[in-house]
Amino acid sequence: MAAENLEAFFSDTGKSLGTEGVNRSEETIRRYGENTMACGDVMPAGVVYPASTADVQAIVRAANTHGIPLYPVSTGYNIGLGSRAAARAGQVVVDLGYRMNRILEIDEKLAFAVVEPGVSYQALYDELVRRGNKLMLDVTSGPPQGGMIGNALDKGAGYTPYFDHFGFSCGLEIVLGNGEILRTGDGALQSDTLANWHTSKYSFGPILDGLFAQSNYGIVTRMGVWLLPRPPMVRSFHFAFPEDSDLEEVIELCRPMKMSNFVPTLFRVANDLYLCGSEGESAEYHASKGKKSISDDGRRALREKHGLGAWNVSGAFYGPSAAALEPMIQRVRDHFGQSGKAKYIDHADAGGVGPLQVAINAFSGIPSLGELGLLKWRPGGGNLWFLPGTPMDGKIANEFQRICRGIYEEHGMDYMVMNVCGPRFARGLHVMTFNREDAEERARADACYRKMSEEVARRGVYVGRAPIQYHDFHMQQAMPVYRDACNNVKTALDPNGVIAPGRYGIG
Ligand SMILES: Cc1cc2nc3c(=O)[nH]c(=O)nc-3n(C[C@H](O)[C@H](O)[C@H](O)COP(=O)(O)OP(=O)(O)OC[C@H]3O[C@@H](n4cnc5c(N)ncnc54)[C@H](O)[C@@H]3O)c2cc1C
Repeated sequence: MAAENLEAFFSDTGKSLGTEGVNRSEETIRRYGENTMACGDVMPAGVVYPASTADVQAIVRAANTHGIPLYPVSTGYNIGLGSRAAARAGQVVVDLGYRMNRILEIDEKLAFAVVEPGVSYQALYDELVRRGNKLMLDVTSGPPQGGMIGNALDKGAGYTPYFDHFGFSCGLEIVLGNGEILRTGDGALQSDTLANWHTSKYSFGPILDGLFAQSNYGIVTRMGVWLLPRPPMVRSFHFAFPEDSDLEEVIELCRPMKMSNFVPTLFRVANDLYLCGSEGESAEYHASKGKKSISDDGRRALREKHGLGAWNVSGAFYGPSAAALEPMIQRVRDHFGQSGKAKYIDHADAGGVGPLQVAINAFSGIPSLGELGLLKWRPGGGNLWFLPGTPMDGKIANEFQRICRGIYEEHGMDYMVMNVCGPRFARGLHVMTFNREDAEERARADACYRKMSEEVARRGVYVGRAPIQYHDFHMQQAMPVYRDACNNVKTALDPNGVIAPGRYGIG
């Protein structure tokens, strides 16, 4: 990319957006390059701030004219997966959220909201509370400043019945790579009024929405989000299991409760370090200079301090009153009680345990900061998420635990994982916290990530989402026909390849 092309791009964009629409200061470039990944910072060429869909079109058209690669972010809190860092150095970050941050609509009768890219979980939650708290949105247990559009497009998820954020979105507006505007679903109708854009997912013709999740085919400027009526009462339940190997039984116990949909939330099945790790720095880190995983004694001490187990199950029921939910809690207690080793922690007691309160908030659609404590488990700010999954079969889940725990230990990392369980499948949220300031530890974290990816792939398991530094690596694990199909769609929708080349290994 020639320097004069870049100058011409920023000059054209400045004319369309005004001076507040462009920032190329050293400080801004440094800030937008920061992230928590092992690859180091990834500096963009500058940042542009559209205020409308028309501005986004102007940016995309200028990028086509001058051959400039763009990198869109919405709220930019994709921590552990790239933050706001571009797919490749030198791309121009399009920060949509800074000025396009309006809640366009809340329909209280049909329970949906329509948002621009900058609307965060916290902002929509606050607005719903302001309107009387009649509706509940599904939140992540990550940063409250993360947002609905960026999270859904990255196939992020929460924990209530509306956990699948892309699945519970409805109707997108997209600026394609050629600068044209596409509306998906019922929005495709040629009409000035659209009655069902954000209420009907499947309309006439192919379902194009999915093309814009984990891809780089367009820039999404508007999205419908479905909301739940807020239940009058949420009652959580929690069980602590003593041994690592109890995971097998835990998965077997969770599956029927989800298969019949008796438990409406997903199960959070978190190990000791996933929960205790958000409560303070590792007491053993400095003694081994970060070269060793925490000892079994160290883990035991943490479990005792917080009253938790090697594995900890959390879920919740919704209903009109605590009394109405009591029989359901009793049934789930009887069910988990069959194991003879589950320690029950009730809703009130769980409220006094920081990491369990995070679970209660997540089940209640309340954004919270607690889990961000995981980033401080080791010093130096490094954080990667490794996101494979397991069928809901206890034996298989336990085998993956054995493999991944072994690889963490081989690399001197601390094994932190939460299996988020549905009826047939559990996503394994593996946290890697490491000292990013220490080159040797950084290299170990990177090697650990790659080895786990290769080992699980050998057993037929793909990741569901990945830190951007590994997008090319994971795309190389796909069958060639899949890679070609992704690249062919890219050519059709973004012929000059201006939108996020390299994101998810495409273009
Ligand atoms: C402790 C911790 C806990 C976490 N828990 C969860 C969790 O429970 N669930 C979960 O899903 N995640 C979780 N995360 C990961 C992450 O922080 C969140 O998913 C966060 O919401 C994503 O950031 P964002 O919403 O700001 O998206 P953004 O950073 O705005 O977007 C993510 C990516 O999507 C693409 N994109 C964004 N907007 C657009 C657009 N308009 N058009 C085209 N492409 C776009 C970009 O490539 C961007 O980099 C957690 C992270 C941490 C550190």
